[in-house]
Amino acid sequence: MTFCKNKCADCKSVCKMNEELLNREDDFEGDIIHDECGVFGAYDFDGHDVSSTIYYGLFALQHRGQESAGIAVGDTNGPKGVKCYKDMGLVNEVFNNENLSKLNGDIGVGHVRYSTAGSSVRENAQPLVINYVKGTLGMAHNGNLLNAVELREELSYTGAIFQTTIDSEVIAYLIARERLYAPTVELSVRNAMRRIKGAYSLVVMSPKKLIGARDPFGFKPLCIGKRDNTYFLSSETCALDTVGAEFVRDVEPGEVVTITPEGIFSDKSLCQEKHARCIFEYIYFARPDSKIDGMGVYESRIIAGKILAQTHPVEADLVVGVPESGNPAALGYSIESGIPYGNAFIKNNYVGRTFIKPKQGERESSVKVKLNVLKEAVAGKRVVMIDDSIVRGTTSARIVNLLKAAGANEVHVRISSPAFLHPCYFGTDIPSEDQLIASGHSVEEICKMIGADSLGYLDVTRLSEMIGGKTDICDACFTGNYPIEPPKIDIRGEMG
Ligand code: SF4
Repeated sequence: MTFCKNKCADCKSVCKMNEELLNREDDFEGDIIHDECGVFGAYDFDGHDVSSTIYYGLFALQHRGQESAGIAVGDTNGPKGVKCYKDMGLVNEVFNNENLSKLNGDIGVGHVRYSTAGSSVRENAQPLVINYVKGTLGMAHNGNLLNAVELREELSYTGAIFQTTIDSEVIAYLIARERLYAPTVELSVRNAMRRIKGAYSLVVMSPKKLIGARDPFGFKPLCIGKRDNTYFLSSETCALDTVGAEFVRDVEPGEVVTITPEGIFSDKSLCQEKHARCIFEYIYFARPDSKIDGMGVYESRIIAGKILAQTHPVEADLVVGVPESGNPAALGYSIESGIPYGNAFIKNNYVGRTFIKPKQGERESSVKVKLNVLKEAVAGKRVVMIDDSIVRGTTSARIVNLLKAAGANEVHVRISSPAFLHPCYFGTDIPSEDQLIASGHSVEEICKMIGADSLGYLDVTRLSEMIGGKTDICDACFTGNYPIEPPKIDIRGEMG
């Protein structure tokens, strides 16, 4: 593409739009979609402490949330009560030997958080611990409720005093309130689920039971694992591998699973036929070494790459993936097309939360600090660059620019998801339409705006092939077909 050098003030041309994308102050993180949370639970029937195991489990789930981390534990044979430690930061920033050693108990739940409902402050960190007349509950939640505002108001009018601004506290209150009438804690979880609407995977600990629950649509993953006499609940199977546990099975959408030394009990009374598993878990959120509902995430990304090669072929010398989730899709594109696969990017994995973003005008950019291009790999080549998504376009424009600056002759961008056209209300921060580049521009326009030589998205009609042809998926951010009617007002953000 030729860039106009005139730079007229009122220019509306594509090269001007490309320049604007390259110079926009959005930081790299602002152009990345985040999941809300990861949850992990453990119950050791032999009575050993579980807090360090939960710590390692949370480590493996760190990609699902980097704002805060927490662990709550109880002792099923000792004094009543729950010990909880949580704070802002990554798992290894929040926990140390000293605070972990004080968390002794044989049953516990853990949480890593990225905020999509409620602000990013310590009070909103999880697990939540609720003391009520029947005892103490610890709870961790992944997802987003659609009716949290109404429920919160209703609970407030009947005396509930909320300590946080997160929708998860509404669930914890409902469970505690239902427990006043229900004969068991698992029934109170089930009864609370009848009242809440939205996406949720829960791990709940009562004094003697570990409970896992998944919303009837199954938006968010949750699975069960086992190691000797210890049982686990986890957002993803990669955390079971990390703690040396074997995968037992997924919790079914709508199921309430109760883990006790007497056995694992299942309540499927809220299970329904219609499911809506988040397809973006496979495209981007989940770790590639996880399996969700029987389908390997790595395998599903390879399939996406193969489909892209079939639907958007191009003559090129090299296929590269934008780390990390673009890599398996790039391999799939290479396998299908026969174009060699290679590495073009070196990612700096040590850019933490406290990274000081370069100011506009500084020669460093957030993208350049995080990604460097291997010049010798791309110089003089026609490159197919595979990424998982385009949000505002800023990051794509910058990465294409990096490849061209490194000497790539052509850059053909292929995206292993369909174009984002609608926001998500189910626990991820896909923004409103006005911030999504695909919502206001054609593929040709976006291609020019990001400075690519061609652009192709995964065809929305072929999404289900990524997970073996199962069609019980949520694809609302691409199609606008929301499995549950979205709220009239944007409920994502501060509550209360
Ligand atoms: S709208 Fe998109 S990100 Fe949200 S649950 Fe559905 S598929 Fe996942």
